[in-house]
Amino acid sequence: MTWGGGMGGGGFGGAPGGFGRPAAPGLPFAGIPSELQSGVDRLVASEPEYAEPDITFEQNANEEELRRLTLWRLLTKYPGMLVLAGLLVVVISVAGQVGPKLTEYAINNGMTPPNHLDFGVVVAMAVAYLVFIGVTALAQRFQVQVTGRLAAWVMNDLRVKIFAHLQRLSLGFFTEEKAGVVMSRMTSDIENLQQLLQDGLSQLAIQALTMVVITGILFATDVRLAFITVVLIVPALVAASIWFKRASERGYDRVRDGIADVLSDLSESLHGVRIVTAHNRQRHNVIHHRNVVGDYRDANNYTAHVNALYGPGTQMLGIIAQAVMLAIGGNMVLHHQLSLGALVAFFLYLNRFFQPIQLLVQQYNTYQQGQASVTKLRSLCDTEPEVREARDAVELPPVEGAIRFEHVSFAYIEGRPVLEDVDLAMAPGDTVAFVGPTGAGKSTMAKLVTRFYDPTEGRVTFDGHDLRDVTMHSLRSQLGVVPQEPFLFAGTIGDNIAFARPDATDEELRDAVERVGLTDVIDRMPQGLDTVVHERGQTLSSGERQLIALARAFLAHPRVLVLDEATSNLDLQSETKIEAALDVLLENRTAILIAHRLSTAMRADRIAVVDEGRIIEVGSHDELVARGGRYAQMYETWVSQADAAGHVASGPATP
Ligand code: ATP
Repeated sequence: MTWGGGMGGGGFGGAPGGFGRPAAPGLPFAGIPSELQSGVDRLVASEPEYAEPDITFEQNANEEELRRLTLWRLLTKYPGMLVLAGLLVVVISVAGQVGPKLTEYAINNGMTPPNHLDFGVVVAMAVAYLVFIGVTALAQRFQVQVTGRLAAWVMNDLRVKIFAHLQRLSLGFFTEEKAGVVMSRMTSDIENLQQLLQDGLSQLAIQALTMVVITGILFATDVRLAFITVVLIVPALVAASIWFKRASERGYDRVRDGIADVLSDLSESLHGVRIVTAHNRQRHNVIHHRNVVGDYRDANNYTAHVNALYGPGTQMLGIIAQAVMLAIGGNMVLHHQLSLGALVAFFLYLNRFFQPIQLLVQQYNTYQQGQASVTKLRSLCDTEPEVREARDAVELPPVEGAIRFEHVSFAYIEGRPVLEDVDLAMAPGDTVAFVGPTGAGKSTMAKLVTRFYDPTEGRVTFDGHDLRDVTMHSLRSQLGVVPQEPFLFAGTIGDNIAFARPDATDEELRDAVERVGLTDVIDRMPQGLDTVVHERGQTLSSGERQLIALARAFLAHPRVLVLDEATSNLDLQSETKIEAALDVLLENRTAILIAHRLSTAMRADRIAVVDEGRIIEVGSHDELVARGGRYAQMYETWVSQADAAGHVASGPATP
């Protein structure tokens, strides 16, 4: 693979071959000097190449995705690596425990006077000891490698799965759920799992298996002594462990919720930084954040307290058991009921018996945290989108653009209707402006047309097709939306305009820019269309953002357009420019204009006056003024205000 041609710009997939956007400001890219080419080729050859993503996005989750999220399901997707890790765990647990048995043999057959003094046996046992330690170390090395790789794959799958699920969820979920909480699911919860998968689970298995192996060896060495040990230790250990399990589960749940609250508080104050500063809320915010962080600290303190009781408590238990064993075992050696070698081996094993318990405690914490994270992630995955594509949804054929609201009612919250029995028919190519007081339900009607929500009663149709019967993709590919607050993504302005149609050609892109009157703005930018905008377009004025959003909608060539206050952030000059562009944009397209300004509404073919969730008047500007109803009142007020301000000329003065 040679890497010689133009470098594509950063961004998120603009037009292919796009604008020849350079990656960074500076001189034009003149190609790689020939003396460096071979080095670059080598570098590129050794870089990992990511194959085309094999992810297909479906609005409806498929069978595989509908299965509940469990650790086991995540792991068993990679059976080969899982089995290999299991085998290595067995090798580590068994080979690591041979040592004391070899010591016993060396004492009994090589160091016990008068008949068993044999240096050869001692050396042979020492060498065997070393070999087993070597095997254990090697197995550990491979196990870490295998579980690390397994963890990386599982994490990768999980991240993609959750992200895809979030893409599927409806607007309602993102309105109700705090962004910070969702972020913490994607960051700290997933990271917790990483720790568990990479190290925790294998260690848990090794320690548990080691305990089983040691128990077996203890019984094989001396049944009586082993029995006494078990009776002495196990009941106390089980009781302590049950208490610990319950207490730490409670604790880790609190910790998980705590960190989610901290992150969501943080993200809210970062997003609202302007309002916070403008309203002098910094002090209040610091106090609030201190309380949220304080709750998180208390949750962590609680888990530390639980750990502090359980860890040293079980250690204490071990020490008591050793003291008792010394007395009983010593007595048995004196009465020749037990060999000295066996007693030493017993002691060594007893020590090793408690070591895994200590480690188990630590690993159990990781396990608890991981489980708590799985539970939270599972409940996120179990959240159903409110607006679901029907399983038998059909492709919406290219529409003429007739829109109908048929006796539509809608409520965000059950029992509190926002729209009631709305009935409105729009012919193809019709432009209807929704006007009315704030909170009347204008934006809600637009959200039903874009199917961000489904009506509670009645139906919304495009060319007679109920929106609930068609696929989301085919519906939205024929819809253009310019929201009240246009959203720009990090990338170039060109990328942002081509967002809905990444395959648009340069000419189409330039045409869209020109038609919405964005040319002047682009010319002012340091690198024209290649100018990089920051996240959410914070470096642009709101008017500029709106023009870009209009160009984006224009480029998408939709049959139906929804413009929510699309001209509200513009100065008079830009507004005039946009209104001219809108005339071109709206030509032959069905459009819904949500307008606060009557000057915008007057451009529409018809005006629908919305009040308290109902359409109370529909007609052209002239008809409604002549009718002398609510619209006529609004118009009169507007004209008299404009007169008083002395610039009635800025809007059409005559009806
Ligand atoms: P504006 O002109 O101020 O944008 P609007 O006519 O577009 O107002 P809508 O945004 O449609 O009004 O809101 C209609 C009503 O629905 C309001 O009372 C609002 O409080 C309520 N509402 C809007 N979104 C939600 C939501 N996600 N959950 C609950 N209630 C909502």
